[in-house]
Amino acid sequence: MSDLEMMTLSRAAADFIDDDYLAGLLEESCPEKSRVREIIAKSLAKKALGVEETAVLLAAADPELVEEIFDAARTLKDNIYGRRVVLFAPLYIGNECVNDCLYCAFKRSNKKALRRTLSREELAAQVEALEQNGHKRLILVFGEHPRYSADFIASCVRTVYSTQSGRGEIRRVNINAAPLDHQGYRRVKEAGIGTYQIFQETYHHEAYARFHPQNTSKGDYLYRLDGLSRALEAGLDDVGIGALFGLHDWRFEVLGLVSHALYLEKHFGVGPHTISFPRLRPAAGVSFDSRCLVKDFDFKRLVAILRLAVPYTGLICTAREKPHLRREILGFGVSQIDGGSRIELGGYTELEGEQLMEREQFSLGDLRSLDQVIGELLADNYIPSFCTACYRLGRTGEHFMEFAIPGFIKQFCTPNALATLMEYLVDYASPETREAGEKLIASEIDRIPESKLKTELLDRLVRIRNKGERDLYF
Ligand code: SAM
Ligand code: SF4
Repeated sequence: MSDLEMMTLSRAAADFIDDDYLAGLLEESCPEKSRVREIIAKSLAKKALGVEETAVLLAAADPELVEEIFDAARTLKDNIYGRRVVLFAPLYIGNECVNDCLYCAFKRSNKKALRRTLSREELAAQVEALEQNGHKRLILVFGEHPRYSADFIASCVRTVYSTQSGRGEIRRVNINAAPLDHQGYRRVKEAGIGTYQIFQETYHHEAYARFHPQNTSKGDYLYRLDGLSRALEAGLDDVGIGALFGLHDWRFEVLGLVSHALYLEKHFGVGPHTISFPRLRPAAGVSFDSRCLVKDFDFKRLVAILRLAVPYTGLICTAREKPHLRREILGFGVSQIDGGSRIELGGYTELEGEQLMEREQFSLGDLRSLDQVIGELLADNYIPSFCTACYRLGRTGEHFMEFAIPGFIKQFCTPNALATLMEYLVDYASPETREAGEKLIASEIDRIPESKLKTELLDRLVRIRNKGERDLYF
């Protein structure tokens, strides 16, 4: 164990990734169709899969079986999540970084990167711009640097919550930053964060060592792998895991993610709230070996298989991906997407149009505005949602009842999605989006049987639409 690990690891810290075992599982090819179908059926019964079962789905390359996996992912998404899609935006706070991750434009050896950390006033200006577009949920993103201590992160979170613009306010702030120690997590929890996200990047030890030089803090595989265990031990109850696809065999990373989810569930009684699966993107000052890059078709397979493996975990697809692919994989069970994203420091107020590679961590594939993204969701009959109710009512972590209580989604999630959509339509939408959104709300209301809930929801929608009331959640 390194000094860092001796001081700060979680009580039950363990390196639960056995490269040889996982690689061995991936050696099986052409599994029996009946075995694949049994596993699909287990997942459709809303039971999480083990790593061995997930490996069987990964080995199923026969086109007929792959189609069945896609279909099952669509069915599971409809059964569990319904048609809601939650929207958020990333907000980069600072790109100073002591690490040297080979794939990232913020790496310390990239001398051409324009280094910047937003001041309190600059941060507030970004938040106002995001609010004026209609955002309610943000993820704050940080490089790793002594400046970005837990106290600094907490103070950024407080600035975001206290910045309002007209009717706009941010109601949930998530974090993507370096792993912290227990005390650090407690500090950011006190500031009222939502999810703390840490991506392992690659679960494969040898590849991890290649991409993260040993003389950097990120070079410590176990310290990072244990990062969210410490967070849960310190009292956070909402964490997100992820892998950066393109560093190693994508099928291995899927097994790594599933292993991590199962580990957290077993040791803390609560699995990750979300899984992210970013693919490597071109970045300034970065060149990479294309051997492990994931093709679009395999990317779709990995999303569908993740959906089946962890039925109750939210899946996040960011604007790294191109619009047509995002649209397609929404059907396989992606539950959260960003819209109108800019990832240059200060990008929401200082830039329009083309992205500036030297100012961002990597290039984006989808530069559409939030209104365009919402317009497409509505055209595809999804319900765009800005709901933050569970988190604000303390319904998180093991108490997160969204899936555990029969009827919860009908009773809370759908009405909250419709109410927050109405707020967006009235305050921020273009005329076309507003028209499409109001039609969707009307048809959703028609589907709700006469009940106290329906009467209450109708009343709230009128209060939002005609009386300017806001934040009326169930
Ligand atoms: N610096 C912190 C860290 O590394 O944990 C915070 C996160 S970093 C700013 C956000 C994430 O961006 C990384 O975890 C990595 O997965 C992803 N990333 C870095 N370079 C990328 C690239 N070229 N293409 C796509 N995603 C990239
Ligand atoms: Fe720094 Fe994170 Fe980029 Fe690595 S991925 S160089 S830690 S910002």
